[in-house]
Order: sequence, then C-alpha cells, then structure tokens
Amino acid sequence: MTEKSLCKGCTESVMVTEEVIQELVKETEEDLSVIVSDDVYEARLKSCTSCPALQYGTTCAHSGSLVRYRAKFKNKACPLAANPKWEKVS
Ligand code: SF4
Repeated sequence: MTEKSLCKGCTESVMVTEEVIQELVKETEEDLSVIVSDDVYEARLKSCTSCPALQYGTTCAHSGSLVRYRAKFKNKACPLAANPKWEKVS
C-alpha cells in the first residue's frame, strides 16, 4: 500500500536514510545544554509516532522537520498551533 503524503510541496525525495538521521541526532549531543533528557525525548517521539502528520516515519508534515532531530531540542515544540502534542522545555 502506498502512503499518501500530507505535505503540499514534499515528495519521496525528502526521505533520508537511517544513517543520516543517526548522524544528525549524534550531532545534537555535542551541546548537552540545548537538548532534552532521554525521557522527554522518548515521550516526544512517542507522540510523533502515533501522529497522522508523521510522513515516511521520519518527517513532520507541519514543520517539515525530521522528528528525531527536532525533538532533541529544548527550544523546539510540536508545530500544531491549536493543540501541540509536545512543548518547549525551559
Ligand atoms: S511534531 Fe507534532 S505534528 Fe509533527 S509529527 Fe510530531 S506530534 Fe505530529
């Protein structure tokens, strides 16, 4: 079955490899002051995994971000304006 994209401007060309994602996530750990705890990170990813906006298992249709990367940062939030599924951490 083909997964229908919710992104207006995105095609399957936005798909990235597991290697690239792991490299990006590893880079976030170079400055621990800007990233969330493992517990917060896992909770955020759990929300994304069950969200219909998650495309290709990697990308948020609303922000265009790789969720495994975006969810690492304290200053990032779920982009749903009315009812964000996860918030910034101060
Ligand atoms: S960041 Fe928010 S809208 Fe995007 S996939 Fe995750 S839970 Fe869904």
